[in-house]
Amino acid sequence: MVDKSNLILALLVPCYNEEEVIIDTNERLLNLIYKLIKSKIISPKSYIYYVDDGSSDTTWGTIKKLHINEKRIKALKLSKNFGHQNALIAGLNQLENKCDFVISIDADLQQDINVIPMMIDKYYAGSEIVFGIRKNRSGDTIFKKATGVLFNKIFKILGGNIIEDHADFRLLGGKALKALLQYTETDIFIRGIVPNLGFKTSKVKFEQSRRRLGKTKYSLMKMFNLAYKGISSLSTTPLRFLFFIGFFSTLISLFWSIYVIYAKYYTLKIVPGWASIILSIWFFSSLQLMALGLIGEYLSKVFLDVKKRPRYIVESSID
Ligand code: UDP
Ligand code: MG
Repeated sequence: MVDKSNLILALLVPCYNEEEVIIDTNERLLNLIYKLIKSKIISPKSYIYYVDDGSSDTTWGTIKKLHINEKRIKALKLSKNFGHQNALIAGLNQLENKCDFVISIDADLQQDINVIPMMIDKYYAGSEIVFGIRKNRSGDTIFKKATGVLFNKIFKILGGNIIEDHADFRLLGGKALKALLQYTETDIFIRGIVPNLGFKTSKVKFEQSRRRLGKTKYSLMKMFNLAYKGISSLSTTPLRFLFFIGFFSTLISLFWSIYVIYAKYYTLKIVPGWASIILSIWFFSSLQLMALGLIGEYLSKVFLDVKKRPRYIVESSID
């Protein structure tokens, strides 16, 4: 039986220009931590870890002031805005070996912090990863909801593994954290990787609230970048697709050539030169597509290799 009051929780909060919410968020998170410590659910050494993702407002100054009065507030400042995913990775890198488990949550606390004790329960019951699943999408525009659904569909069709209605509100145990950090690729899409880590996982549902203050820090451009990053870092299917299009169009061009030759010799209606031009267009375009697809096959091997993703993840060993 694990002694819960020995296990250190780190609450990881990426912040980008969050001056409107940071003080309130900090108060709520600290209260939660005090409550959990008091109920002996986590170690008194548990803490909040802010990652300032190159904010241009007073966010960092505020975090520094908050730290003076409370040692349970720690933070990291990035030199410029690197984006949400990189801010999370920066934080996770720092937290490796400095906590037993970590829960990441947005600075605007749109996710319900009252489900955090439930997440911790599931972790103690043996789950290495606990996904926060939103029951609703309050505060999100229809456009954001629609593009979100479309993205998930495409991601799945391409062979990706994504948890519906889960963003980056999740608990990672020490082992899962170590495993995730083995993915050293530059364009990282954490949501697409965590479900592939293995381990026992579980879900906790929560009601998403509206952003209390400030505006979304996910501009349209950032959202598209994330989607593009997610899809292009995942799959070599589009490259393989080229080869198949080329292959099928070669087949079609074979049948087509039968018709063209028939039309040329047995009907009088065709314009001179048509048959040879149309056949070369079909045949050579198909050949080119196939050749591109073939290059794509080799490119996809390079693509997968340069990412140096782990080939396996160890859960435990006995010597
Ligand atoms: N964020 C970040 N860097 C960015 C954009 C956002 O660290 O470049 C953080 C932001 O401060 C927040 C979280 O990512 O903690 C999610 O952002 P937001 O709540 O604005 O996104 P939304 O809920 O509108 O999707
Ligand atoms: Mg938000």
